[in-house]
Amino acid sequence: NYDAYIVGGAIRDICFDLKPKDVDIVTNATPYEIKKIFRGSRIIGKRFKLVHIGYGRNIIEVSTFRKNAIMQNGFIKKDEKGKLLRDNLFGSEKDDIQRRDITINSLLYDPNKRIIIDYFDGFKDIKNKKIKVIGDPKKRFIEDPMRIIRIIRISSKLNLQIDKKLSGIMVTNIDLIRDIPSSRLFDEFCKMFTNGHAASCIVMLYNFNVLKILVPRLSDLMRNEKNLDKIKKLLKASDQRFEKKLTISISFVLSSLFWVLIKDEHKALLKKNKLSKIRSIFIAVDNFFSNFKQINIPKRIQYEMKTIWVNQIRLENTRGKKPIKLLNSDMFKISYDFFLLRNQIDEINNDIFLWWADFYKKKS
Ligand code: ATP
Ligand code: MG
Repeated sequence: NYDAYIVGGAIRDICFDLKPKDVDIVTNATPYEIKKIFRGSRIIGKRFKLVHIGYGRNIIEVSTFRKNAIMQNGFIKKDEKGKLLRDNLFGSEKDDIQRRDITINSLLYDPNKRIIIDYFDGFKDIKNKKIKVIGDPKKRFIEDPMRIIRIIRISSKLNLQIDKKLSGIMVTNIDLIRDIPSSRLFDEFCKMFTNGHAASCIVMLYNFNVLKILVPRLSDLMRNEKNLDKIKKLLKASDQRFEKKLTISISFVLSSLFWVLIKDEHKALLKKNKLSKIRSIFIAVDNFFSNFKQINIPKRIQYEMKTIWVNQIRLENTRGKKPIKLLNSDMFKISYDFFLLRNQIDEINNDIFLWWADFYKKKS
């Protein structure tokens, strides 16, 4: 007999009357003990082992209580800056809760006894819609700077207040986020921009100067009210899809997010060189990806973004055989959706828009 609790985002979201995206479970059973109980479960992870239990079509992630890090001569092992180096020891229930990021993520729910265990007054903070870091915020941000971005994501999703003191600490420590590995940032970006609150999230990332560090050129462009407004409108389209429970393509959202930047670069290139519009967009896109190292966008998604962007120029052409070729190409539908979205922000010439609407209706 073991203890097992539902923990983290799932309990938090239920308390906010939202349907949880996934359920995380913590237990005092070790991965091998868990595997013995659940047939068809799988142990995953190298440093810290977790168990995936198949449940219908879903996978439930179960982890053993963790302790924060290794104590060495009475100190937790960190690098010279204070960043956590290892994170792989089994611990107690309290240990596990203590290493979580914010109080509203720290509730444990015991489904057998039907009780909530609340070490850090997380329930009160849920009721008051408050974000509070567990422990000393500065130290927790040094241990793992991703926590700054997580706070932004979670407060934009749940419409929570970040008080002055905490926002001050976030902003003064913002440089730490340069150390986050680019692949981890990509995963976090996926969560941020597909959770139905992409528009408010980008405004927060901009206000907290996160964007200035991750994508400085976009941050500069957002100082212009018109660009800011465009980005918000483009992202709201994805937020509305979320509301309607439709799927959201990460390539589409990222294409929306960086569009003003691509457009700006395209315009500059056209001014500078005597190249065609189509050549220039290829160069603009290639420049963008080769200068963009902070967030590791997988090659397949880069390819899709590139196609969506390049197709915006191809869609300007309504003559000859090219439109029909484009219509029959792989990524036409998603590119055309982006074109329709751009029409809503008045970027499309009305004759071209009407021509495509008619052509599309006839041919499909
Ligand atoms: P979502 O609804 O997007 O899944 P979440 O809060 O559940 O949000 P997860 O990444 O699934 O986010 O993490 C599950 C739990 O693990 C969190 O609720 C939090 O308690 C803890 N956690 C996740 N990342 C960190 C971190 N960087 N530092 C401390 N605790 C974390
Ligand atoms: Mg979760």
